[in-house]
Amino acid sequence: MDKKVKKKREFDPLPILPSRLLPELIASKLITPMPPKPANPQAPGPNARCEYHIGGIRHWTNDCYHLRHRIQDLLDHQLLSFYLRGRDVYYALKNPCPSLQDE
Ligand SMILES: [Zn+2]
Repeated sequence: MDKKVKKKREFDPLPILPSRLLPELIASKLITPMPPKPANPQAPGPNARCEYHIGGIRHWTNDCYHLRHRIQDLLDHQLLSFYLRGRDVYYALKNPCPSLQDE
């Protein structure tokens, strides 16, 4: 890893829309919704809602950059994975084990 070069993070392609994954990820406590930050008044879509940002912030859940990062974190840690069965894409969640994370 070269720390001098700050590379833009590459995201794995998501076969399932973030808005479809999010409710399950929240229910599994893999993702915690964020309180919305003040919206950029220049941002398009004053009616857009982001479920990750608790319904706020002028963008749609599927366009949420922060959520995309969180999902990529889960993929990187293999807490979330996708698999194909026939022509359908499924996903699998692995719950982290808090009891094993003694400090
Ligand atoms: Zn958002």
